[in-house]
Amino acid sequence: MDVAGRLARLRERAADAGCDAVLVTSLLNVRWLTGFTGSAGLLLVRPDDALLVTDGRYAERAAAELAESGAEVRLVVARTQAAQRDEVVSVASGVRRVGLEAGAVTWAEQRSFAETWFPSAELVPTERLAEELRLVKDPGEVARIEAAAAIVDRALAAVRPLLVERPTERTFARALDDEILDLGADGTSFDTIVAGGPNASQPHARPGDRPIGPGEPVVVDVGARVDGYCSDMTRTLVVGEPTPTVRRLLEVVDAARAAGVAAVRAGVAGADVDRACRELIAEAGWGEQFVHGTGHGVGLEIHEHPRLGATSPDLLAAGHVVTVEPGVYLAGEAGVRIEDLLVVDPDGCRVLTRTPHGAVLA
Ligand code: ZN
Ligand code: ZN
Repeated sequence: MDVAGRLARLRERAADAGCDAVLVTSLLNVRWLTGFTGSAGLLLVRPDDALLVTDGRYAERAAAELAESGAEVRLVVARTQAAQRDEVVSVASGVRRVGLEAGAVTWAEQRSFAETWFPSAELVPTERLAEELRLVKDPGEVARIEAAAAIVDRALAAVRPLLVERPTERTFARALDDEILDLGADGTSFDTIVAGGPNASQPHARPGDRPIGPGEPVVVDVGARVDGYCSDMTRTLVVGEPTPTVRRLLEVVDAARAAGVAAVRAGVAGADVDRACRELIAEAGWGEQFVHGTGHGVGLEIHEHPRLGATSPDLLAAGHVVTVEPGVYLAGEAGVRIEDLLVVDPDGCRVLTRTPHGAVLA
Protein backbone atom coordinates (compact mmCIF):
# COMPACT_ATOMS: atom_id res chain seq x y z
CA MET A 1 0.00 0.00 0.00
CA ASP A 2 1.21 3.47 -0.80
CA VAL A 3 0.16 5.22 2.41
CA ALA A 4 2.87 7.90 2.29
CA GLY A 5 1.52 9.45 -0.92
CA ARG A 6 -2.00 9.97 0.35
CA LEU A 7 -1.56 13.20 2.34
CA ALA A 8 -0.48 15.07 -0.79
CA ARG A 9 -3.65 13.98 -2.55
CA LEU A 10 -5.77 15.13 0.40
CA ARG A 11 -4.02 18.52 0.39
CA GLU A 12 -5.01 19.07 -3.24
CA ARG A 13 -8.64 18.42 -2.44
CA ALA A 14 -8.45 20.59 0.71
CA ALA A 15 -7.09 23.48 -1.35
CA ASP A 16 -9.88 23.02 -3.91
CA ALA A 17 -12.37 23.20 -1.04
CA GLY A 18 -10.86 26.50 0.05
CA CYS A 19 -9.32 25.23 3.29
CA ASP A 20 -5.98 26.36 4.74
CA ALA A 21 -5.97 23.26 6.96
CA VAL A 22 -8.16 20.21 7.52
CA LEU A 23 -8.87 18.59 10.86
CA VAL A 24 -9.43 14.88 10.14
CA THR A 25 -11.49 13.32 12.91
CA SER A 26 -12.83 10.21 11.16
CA LEU A 27 -10.61 7.44 12.52
CA LEU A 28 -10.90 5.47 9.28
CA ASN A 29 -9.64 8.47 7.36
CA VAL A 30 -6.84 8.99 9.89
CA ARG A 31 -5.91 5.36 9.38
CA TRP A 32 -6.05 5.59 5.60
CA LEU A 33 -3.94 8.76 5.54
CA THR A 34 -1.31 7.77 8.09
CA GLY A 35 -1.48 4.05 8.93
CA PHE A 36 -2.40 4.82 12.58
CA THR A 37 -4.98 2.29 13.82
CA GLY A 38 -5.72 3.52 17.36
CA SER A 39 -9.22 4.27 18.60
CA ALA A 40 -8.47 7.90 19.50
CA GLY A 41 -6.62 10.50 17.49
CA LEU A 42 -6.87 13.70 15.48
CA LEU A 43 -4.97 14.62 12.36
CA LEU A 44 -4.39 18.25 11.40
CA VAL A 45 -3.24 18.55 7.80
CA ARG A 46 -1.72 21.83 6.66
CA PRO A 47 -0.19 22.57 3.24
CA ASP A 48 3.35 21.85 4.42
CA ASP A 49 3.01 19.61 7.45
CA ALA A 50 0.70 17.33 9.36
CA LEU A 51 0.21 16.65 13.05
CA LEU A 52 -1.23 13.49 14.63
CA VAL A 53 -2.36 13.91 18.22
CA THR A 54 -3.24 10.87 20.31
CA ASP A 55 -3.10 9.82 23.94
CA GLY A 56 -0.72 7.75 26.03
CA ARG A 57 -2.42 4.44 25.27
CA TYR A 58 -1.21 4.67 21.69
CA ALA A 59 2.23 6.26 22.06
CA GLU A 60 4.16 3.18 20.97
CA ARG A 61 1.69 1.96 18.39
CA ALA A 62 1.37 5.35 16.72
CA ALA A 63 5.14 5.78 16.45
CA ALA A 64 5.56 2.28 15.02
CA GLU A 65 2.72 2.64 12.54
CA LEU A 66 3.88 6.04 11.29
CA ALA A 67 7.37 4.66 10.84
CA GLU A 68 6.00 1.71 8.91
CA SER A 69 3.71 3.73 6.65
CA GLY A 70 6.29 6.41 5.92
CA ALA A 71 3.63 9.13 6.19
CA GLU A 72 5.23 12.48 6.93
CA VAL A 73 3.40 13.26 10.12
CA ARG A 74 4.61 14.75 13.39
CA LEU A 75 3.33 12.72 16.34
CA VAL A 76 2.29 14.35 19.59
CA VAL A 77 1.13 12.30 22.55
CA ALA A 78 -0.92 14.30 25.04
CA ARG A 79 -2.59 12.80 28.06
CA THR A 80 -5.74 14.88 28.48
CA GLN A 81 -8.24 16.16 25.93
CA ALA A 82 -7.39 19.71 26.92
CA ALA A 83 -3.71 19.08 26.28
CA GLN A 84 -4.54 17.53 22.90
CA ARG A 85 -6.63 20.56 22.00
CA ASP A 86 -3.83 22.92 23.03
CA GLU A 87 -1.41 21.07 20.72
CA VAL A 88 -3.75 21.39 17.74
CA VAL A 89 -4.67 24.98 18.54
CA SER A 90 -1.04 26.10 18.79
CA VAL A 91 -0.24 24.57 15.38
CA ALA A 92 -3.42 25.99 13.82
CA SER A 93 -2.92 29.53 15.10
CA GLY A 94 -3.05 31.89 12.15
CA VAL A 95 -4.98 29.43 9.97
CA ARG A 96 -7.93 31.32 8.53
CA ARG A 97 -10.11 28.53 7.16
CA VAL A 98 -10.17 25.17 8.93
CA GLY A 99 -11.94 22.33 7.13
CA LEU A 100 -13.95 19.89 9.23
CA GLU A 101 -15.35 16.57 8.01
CA ALA A 102 -19.08 17.34 7.92
CA GLY A 103 -20.00 13.66 7.89
CA ALA A 104 -17.91 12.80 10.96
CA VAL A 105 -18.38 15.76 13.33
CA THR A 106 -21.29 15.87 15.77
CA TRP A 107 -23.21 19.03 16.48
CA ALA A 108 -21.64 19.22 19.94
CA GLU A 109 -18.15 18.82 18.49
CA GLN A 110 -18.78 21.49 15.89
CA ARG A 111 -19.82 23.92 18.62
CA SER A 112 -16.73 23.08 20.61
CA PHE A 113 -14.45 23.53 17.59
CA ALA A 114 -16.10 26.87 16.80
CA GLU A 115 -16.18 28.28 20.34
CA THR A 116 -13.12 26.77 22.03
CA TRP A 117 -10.68 25.38 19.49
CA PHE A 118 -10.74 27.81 16.56
CA PRO A 119 -12.68 30.91 17.70
CA SER A 120 -10.91 33.22 15.26
CA ALA A 121 -10.99 30.92 12.22
CA GLU A 122 -13.74 30.21 9.74
CA LEU A 123 -14.87 26.58 9.89
CA VAL A 124 -15.51 25.01 6.48
CA PRO A 125 -17.76 21.94 6.29
CA THR A 126 -16.08 19.55 3.83
CA GLU A 127 -17.73 16.54 2.21
CA ARG A 128 -15.92 13.28 1.54
CA LEU A 129 -12.44 14.76 1.05
CA ALA A 130 -10.67 11.51 1.98
CA GLU A 131 -13.61 9.23 1.17
CA GLU A 132 -13.49 10.11 -2.53
CA LEU A 133 -9.80 9.25 -2.57
CA ARG A 134 -10.50 5.96 -0.79
CA LEU A 135 -12.85 4.81 -3.57
CA VAL A 136 -10.08 3.59 -5.86
CA LYS A 137 -8.08 0.90 -4.10
CA ASP A 138 -4.35 0.53 -4.73
CA PRO A 139 -2.90 -2.94 -5.36
CA GLY A 140 -2.01 -3.39 -1.68
CA GLU A 141 -5.57 -2.62 -0.64
CA VAL A 142 -7.01 -5.01 -3.23
CA ALA A 143 -4.62 -7.70 -2.00
CA ARG A 144 -5.93 -7.32 1.55
CA ILE A 145 -9.56 -7.47 0.44
CA GLU A 146 -8.75 -10.48 -1.72
CA ALA A 147 -7.07 -12.20 1.23
CA ALA A 148 -10.16 -11.55 3.36
CA ALA A 149 -12.39 -12.99 0.63
CA ALA A 150 -10.15 -16.06 0.33
CA ILE A 151 -10.39 -16.68 4.07
CA VAL A 152 -14.18 -16.70 3.85
CA ASP A 153 -14.06 -19.08 0.86
CA ARG A 154 -11.93 -21.49 2.88
CA ALA A 155 -13.94 -21.06 6.07
CA LEU A 156 -17.27 -21.72 4.38
CA ALA A 157 -15.85 -24.77 2.59
CA ALA A 158 -14.62 -26.11 5.93
CA VAL A 159 -17.88 -25.70 7.86
CA ARG A 160 -20.36 -26.34 5.04
CA PRO A 161 -20.55 -30.10 5.76
CA LEU A 162 -21.91 -29.27 9.25
CA LEU A 163 -25.17 -28.11 7.66
CA VAL A 164 -26.31 -31.69 7.03
CA GLU A 165 -26.34 -32.18 10.82
CA ARG A 166 -29.11 -29.54 10.98
CA PRO A 167 -27.38 -27.13 13.36
CA THR A 168 -29.19 -24.05 14.59
CA GLU A 169 -28.50 -20.84 12.70
CA ARG A 170 -26.50 -19.58 15.66
CA THR A 171 -24.36 -22.72 15.92
CA PHE A 172 -23.53 -22.61 12.25
CA ALA A 173 -22.71 -18.89 12.38
CA ARG A 174 -20.38 -19.45 15.33
CA ALA A 175 -18.60 -22.30 13.58
CA LEU A 176 -18.08 -20.09 10.56
CA ASP A 177 -16.83 -17.16 12.65
CA ASP A 178 -14.40 -19.42 14.55
CA GLU A 179 -13.02 -20.80 11.30
CA ILE A 180 -12.52 -17.27 9.95
CA LEU A 181 -10.51 -16.34 13.06
CA ASP A 182 -8.52 -19.59 12.92
CA LEU A 183 -7.57 -18.79 9.34
CA GLY A 184 -5.92 -15.56 10.47
CA ALA A 185 -8.48 -12.82 9.90
CA ASP A 186 -8.59 -9.84 12.30
CA GLY A 187 -12.26 -10.77 12.72
CA THR A 188 -15.47 -10.76 10.75
CA SER A 189 -16.32 -7.60 8.84
CA PHE A 190 -19.91 -7.54 10.21
CA ASP A 191 -22.18 -9.82 12.24
CA THR A 192 -22.50 -13.03 10.23
CA ILE A 193 -26.00 -13.68 8.88
CA VAL A 194 -27.27 -17.27 8.82
CA ALA A 195 -31.00 -17.29 8.05
CA GLY A 196 -32.91 -20.47 7.29
CA GLY A 197 -36.38 -21.05 5.84
CA PRO A 198 -38.85 -18.30 6.74
CA ASN A 199 -36.08 -16.27 8.42
CA ALA A 200 -34.37 -16.02 5.02
CA SER A 201 -37.07 -13.60 3.95
CA GLN A 202 -35.43 -10.94 6.18
CA PRO A 203 -32.38 -9.65 4.31
CA HIS A 204 -30.61 -8.80 7.59
CA ALA A 205 -31.94 -11.52 9.88
CA ARG A 206 -30.08 -12.31 13.10
CA PRO A 207 -29.06 -15.96 13.59
CA GLY A 208 -31.46 -17.63 16.01
CA ASP A 209 -31.97 -20.95 17.73
CA ARG A 210 -34.06 -22.49 14.99
CA PRO A 211 -32.52 -25.65 13.48
CA ILE A 212 -31.97 -25.53 9.75
CA GLY A 213 -34.59 -27.67 8.04
CA PRO A 214 -34.42 -29.98 5.02
CA GLY A 215 -35.04 -28.42 1.63
CA GLU A 216 -35.15 -24.84 2.89
CA PRO A 217 -32.87 -22.05 1.71
CA VAL A 218 -30.21 -20.89 4.16
CA VAL A 219 -28.85 -17.42 3.43
CA VAL A 220 -25.25 -17.15 4.65
CA ASP A 221 -23.86 -13.60 4.39
CA VAL A 222 -20.37 -13.29 5.81
CA GLY A 223 -17.17 -11.30 5.56
CA ALA A 224 -13.69 -11.25 7.05
CA ARG A 225 -11.37 -8.37 7.89
CA VAL A 226 -7.66 -8.43 7.04
CA ASP A 227 -5.44 -5.53 8.10
CA GLY A 228 -8.58 -3.43 8.42
CA TYR A 229 -9.99 -4.27 4.98
CA CYS A 230 -13.34 -6.04 4.63
CA SER A 231 -14.72 -8.75 2.40
CA ASP A 232 -18.39 -9.55 1.79
CA MET A 233 -20.04 -12.64 0.30
CA THR A 234 -23.46 -14.28 0.38
CA ARG A 235 -24.38 -17.80 -0.63
CA THR A 236 -27.76 -19.45 -0.29
CA LEU A 237 -27.43 -23.15 0.55
CA VAL A 238 -29.98 -25.96 0.66
CA VAL A 239 -29.66 -29.30 2.40
CA GLY A 240 -31.80 -31.85 0.60
CA GLU A 241 -34.35 -31.28 -2.13
CA PRO A 242 -35.49 -27.65 -2.55
CA THR A 243 -39.18 -26.97 -3.17
CA PRO A 244 -40.06 -25.88 -6.73
CA THR A 245 -40.40 -22.26 -5.56
CA VAL A 246 -36.98 -22.30 -3.90
CA ARG A 247 -35.43 -23.91 -6.96
CA ARG A 248 -36.90 -21.19 -9.16
CA LEU A 249 -35.73 -18.47 -6.73
CA LEU A 250 -32.20 -19.86 -6.86
CA GLU A 251 -32.21 -19.92 -10.68
CA VAL A 252 -33.57 -16.39 -11.05
CA VAL A 253 -31.34 -14.79 -8.41
CA ASP A 254 -28.22 -16.47 -9.72
CA ALA A 255 -29.04 -15.39 -13.28
CA ALA A 256 -29.52 -11.84 -11.97
CA ARG A 257 -26.17 -12.00 -10.17
CA ALA A 258 -24.45 -13.19 -13.34
CA ALA A 259 -26.09 -10.40 -15.36
CA GLY A 260 -24.99 -7.82 -12.79
CA VAL A 261 -21.41 -9.09 -12.74
CA ALA A 262 -21.35 -9.07 -16.55
CA ALA A 263 -22.45 -5.42 -16.53
CA VAL A 264 -19.62 -4.24 -14.26
CA ARG A 265 -16.75 -2.37 -15.86
CA ALA A 266 -15.08 1.01 -15.59
CA GLY A 267 -17.28 3.84 -16.85
CA VAL A 268 -20.58 2.06 -16.23
CA ALA A 269 -23.10 3.67 -13.88
CA GLY A 270 -24.01 1.88 -10.66
CA ALA A 271 -27.65 2.37 -11.67
CA ASP A 272 -27.04 0.41 -14.90
CA VAL A 273 -25.63 -2.58 -13.01
CA ASP A 274 -28.68 -2.41 -10.75
CA ARG A 275 -30.98 -2.38 -13.78
CA ALA A 276 -29.25 -5.43 -15.29
CA CYS A 277 -30.02 -7.43 -12.13
CA ARG A 278 -33.45 -5.99 -11.51
CA GLU A 279 -34.81 -6.62 -15.02
CA LEU A 280 -34.34 -10.37 -14.75
CA ILE A 281 -35.97 -10.50 -11.34
CA ALA A 282 -38.88 -8.33 -12.50
CA GLU A 283 -39.39 -10.55 -15.55
CA ALA A 284 -39.74 -13.49 -13.18
CA GLY A 285 -42.48 -11.61 -11.35
CA TRP A 286 -40.53 -10.82 -8.19
CA GLY A 287 -39.58 -7.19 -8.85
CA GLU A 288 -41.36 -6.01 -5.70
CA GLN A 289 -39.58 -8.64 -3.61
CA PHE A 290 -36.08 -7.40 -4.50
CA VAL A 291 -36.20 -4.88 -1.68
CA HIS A 292 -32.66 -3.49 -1.62
CA GLY A 293 -30.03 -2.07 -3.94
CA THR A 294 -27.83 -4.36 -6.02
CA GLY A 295 -24.54 -3.60 -4.33
CA HIS A 296 -22.10 -1.30 -2.56
CA GLY A 297 -18.45 -0.46 -2.35
CA VAL A 298 -16.25 -2.31 0.15
CA GLY A 299 -12.97 -1.23 1.71
CA LEU A 300 -12.04 -0.19 5.22
CA GLU A 301 -15.81 -0.01 5.71
CA ILE A 302 -18.19 -2.83 4.84
CA HIS A 303 -20.56 -0.38 3.16
CA GLU A 304 -18.89 2.38 1.18
CA HIS A 305 -19.47 4.22 -2.05
CA PRO A 306 -20.00 3.62 -4.90
CA ARG A 307 -23.63 2.53 -4.59
CA LEU A 308 -25.16 0.19 -7.14
CA GLY A 309 -28.82 1.09 -6.83
CA ALA A 310 -31.67 2.36 -9.01
CA THR A 311 -31.10 6.01 -8.08
CA SER A 312 -27.33 5.93 -7.60
CA PRO A 313 -25.44 8.73 -9.36
CA ASP A 314 -22.13 6.86 -8.95
CA LEU A 315 -19.97 5.80 -11.89
CA LEU A 316 -17.70 2.77 -11.58
CA ALA A 317 -13.97 3.21 -12.09
CA ALA A 318 -11.00 0.85 -12.28
CA GLY A 319 -9.91 -0.03 -8.76
CA HIS A 320 -13.35 0.23 -7.19
CA VAL A 321 -14.25 -2.84 -5.14
CA VAL A 322 -18.00 -3.50 -5.17
CA THR A 323 -20.56 -6.19 -4.45
CA VAL A 324 -23.31 -7.50 -6.71
CA GLU A 325 -25.96 -9.04 -4.47
CA PRO A 326 -29.46 -9.43 -5.84
CA GLY A 327 -32.01 -11.10 -3.59
CA VAL A 328 -35.68 -12.05 -3.54
CA TYR A 329 -37.56 -12.25 -0.24
CA LEU A 330 -40.97 -13.91 0.12
CA ALA A 331 -42.26 -12.77 3.52
CA GLY A 332 -42.62 -15.59 6.03
CA GLU A 333 -41.75 -18.19 3.41
CA ALA A 334 -38.24 -18.05 1.99
CA GLY A 335 -35.51 -15.83 0.66
CA VAL A 336 -32.50 -16.13 -1.60
CA ARG A 337 -29.52 -13.77 -1.96
CA ILE A 338 -26.30 -14.43 -3.82
CA GLU A 339 -23.45 -11.93 -3.48
CA ASP A 340 -20.08 -11.65 -5.13
CA LEU A 341 -17.29 -9.19 -4.44
CA LEU A 342 -15.49 -7.75 -7.46
CA VAL A 343 -12.68 -5.43 -8.34
CA VAL A 344 -13.55 -3.22 -11.30
CA ASP A 345 -11.11 -3.04 -14.19
CA PRO A 346 -11.21 -1.19 -17.53
CA ASP A 347 -12.65 -4.13 -19.47
CA GLY A 348 -14.84 -5.74 -16.85
CA CYS A 349 -14.12 -7.02 -13.40
CA ARG A 350 -12.32 -9.70 -11.44
CA VAL A 351 -14.40 -11.73 -8.99
CA LEU A 352 -12.73 -12.06 -5.57
CA THR A 353 -15.27 -14.43 -3.98
CA ARG A 354 -14.61 -17.88 -5.38
CA THR A 355 -17.04 -20.13 -3.48
CA PRO A 356 -19.17 -21.94 -6.08
CA HIS A 357 -22.66 -20.48 -6.51
CA GLY A 358 -24.44 -23.83 -6.53
CA ALA A 359 -26.75 -24.15 -3.57
CA VAL A 360 -27.67 -27.77 -3.07
CA LEU A 361 -25.52 -29.85 -0.75
CA ALA A 362 -25.23 -33.52 -1.62
ZN1 ZN B 1 -23.01 -9.36 2.37
ZN1 ZN C 1 -22.99 -6.63 0.83
